[in-house]
Amino acid sequence: MWCGTLGELTGFVYSLEAPLGLLSRPRSLPVTYSPSQFQRGLSFPKFLSQFGTEEQCLQEMFASRWPKGFICPECGGQEHCRLPRRGLYQCNVCHTQTSVTAGTIFHGTHLPLTSWFLAMHLLTCGKHSVSAMELKRQLGVTYETAWRMKQKILHVMLERENGRVLSGRVEVDDAYMGGERHDGTTGRGTTGKTPFLAAVQTTPDGDPDGRKVLYVKLTKVRNFKGRTVKTWAKRSLATASHVLTDGMTGFRCLRTVVKHHDRKVMPGGWRSAKHPAFAWVNTILGNLKGSLLGVCRWVSVKHLPRYLAEFQWRFNRRFDLSTILQRLLRAAVLTPPLPENLLVLAERSR
Ligand SMILES: [Zn+2]
Repeated sequence: MWCGTLGELTGFVYSLEAPLGLLSRPRSLPVTYSPSQFQRGLSFPKFLSQFGTEEQCLQEMFASRWPKGFICPECGGQEHCRLPRRGLYQCNVCHTQTSVTAGTIFHGTHLPLTSWFLAMHLLTCGKHSVSAMELKRQLGVTYETAWRMKQKILHVMLERENGRVLSGRVEVDDAYMGGERHDGTTGRGTTGKTPFLAAVQTTPDGDPDGRKVLYVKLTKVRNFKGRTVKTWAKRSLATASHVLTDGMTGFRCLRTVVKHHDRKVMPGGWRSAKHPAFAWVNTILGNLKGSLLGVCRWVSVKHLPRYLAEFQWRFNRRFDLSTILQRLLRAAVLTPPLPENLLVLAERSR
C-alpha cells in the first residue's frame, strides 16, 4: 500500500527531494508470498569460503573468462604455461604474455582480486546497492578508489542491460529524476529534471496467479518527443508487444513500432498513478526512488544511466541470487576496459 501522500506523486514526476515512505506496492496489487525475497543468496561465510583468497578469485576469474580453457588473445592458441610470480599466462605458440584481467573491465588494476570480488558481492548480495563511501569502509581503500571501482562495475551492468528487449504485456511510463512537485514548474517539459522512460514487462492479463512483473528497462532520454520515443521503442520493445501507456503525445508513435498499443488518455496528474493498468510501472518507479535515496541521497545527472542500469540489472536477476555474483563476473570479463578519459570525465563531474 502507499504509505505516503499520493499528492506527492504525479505518476510521471518522482522527486528525489520528496520524503521517503511512498515506496510500497499499491492497494490494487495483492499481497502475496514472494519466492524471490525468501531465496537463499550467497551468505558472507560462504562468500569467504569460496572467494576469500587471491588464488580462489584468480581461478574463478580464469574459469569465467576462458570457460573452455585458455585462449591466447593474439593467435587463439590454447597451449600455455603459467608464470605465477608475475601473475601472467604465456602462450606456447606465439609467446604472448597476458593476464586474466587484461582486456576486461579490470584491465590495469593494481588492486587484489579479492577486493574486486568483495565489491561485486556487496553490490549484488542485497536488495539495494551500497554507496562508494560504504565500499571505501568495507574494502579499506580510499574513497576515490571505491568510487572508481563502483563506476566500473555499474558500467558493466549498463553494457549488459543496454540490449535488453521487452516483449508481451509492457507498461511504459515517462518519468523524471529530480525536481519539486509543488513549485508550479513540475510535469512534462519542465527544466532542471532528467527525463527517463520506464518500461515493465508483466505476465499477460488473465494470468490465474494474477499479474506479475517480469523484467524492467529504465532508459535516460533527451526528451519525450515522438522521435526520441520511437528510437527508444525500436531498441527496447519487441514488435509483437502489447504496450500500455498514458495519453502523452510522444507515445503516439508507438503504434508504428509495436503490434498493439493501448493508449489510455486520463485526466493526468497523480490520478494516473492509481490506474490499475500502470500499477506495476508505478510500483517500480517508487522502489527505484527509494533505492536511490537510501544509498546515494543525490545522483548526478551524468551518472544516472549507470544508476538506472544498476537497479535494472539487480531487479532482472532477482530470482537467482545464489549465482548473481558469477553472472556479474562473467559480464565483467566480457566488458572491454572503460576508457580512462570517460571515467575521469565522469569523476570530474561528480
Ligand atoms: Zn598466442
